[in-house]
Amino acid sequence: MNLLIVGPQASGKGTQAEKLVDKFNLAHIEMGGLLRNMAKEDSSFGKQVAELINSGQLVPDEMIIEVINKYLANIGKLDGILFDGFPRIVSQAEYFDNFLSQKGQKLDLVVYLTLPREEVFKRLINRRICSQCGKVFNILTNPPKVEGICDFCGGALVIREDDTPEKINKRLDGFENKTVPMIEYYKQKGIVEKLDGNRPIEVIFDDVVERMKKRGLL
Ligand SMILES: [Zn+2]
Repeated sequence: MNLLIVGPQASGKGTQAEKLVDKFNLAHIEMGGLLRNMAKEDSSFGKQVAELINSGQLVPDEMIIEVINKYLANIGKLDGILFDGFPRIVSQAEYFDNFLSQKGQKLDLVVYLTLPREEVFKRLINRRICSQCGKVFNILTNPPKVEGICDFCGGALVIREDDTPEKINKRLDGFENKTVPMIEYYKQKGIVEKLDGNRPIEVIFDDVVERMKKRGLL
């Protein structure tokens, strides 16, 4: 079973991904994290990835597929894969489908979590991150016990550099202009389940599971 999870930032995609991975024994290919790890490797490939990331360039599809292959070669037998963060644009999706079909596989389901733009904004603007351990809080939905202080390590909570209104808008525009067309591409193939991300975590998760059942994936 191959799944892809997509949604705008702050849609709760990461939380749902973790729950799916735990419940169904899936490998979690979270591309951002994998690339960052790869960039730390002392190899020519790692250095190439680091250079691209640091200069803000897109990592080419062939390199991403190589990262996926390296990762898959190192994990044990699992019941499926949950892709997260790749593909995110139409050309990548076409490349990715081709890669899967060469392995005799296909993408079975795209879980699309939606969240209105105002809500994304509200969540991100209120997000605070621990400057020491990186734990994420939200002053509205998940506040620390003591204002401005991390519950876990006592570090100071700060606003992420990426969470300014201009940067949030830019990322949301990117999602709407590039990723939504990719979701449309998969919708044509009949494999998209669109879910309202503006609900409690457990409610969303039950809904995902229900839809997987309905599609005969479980
Ligand atoms: Zn902390």
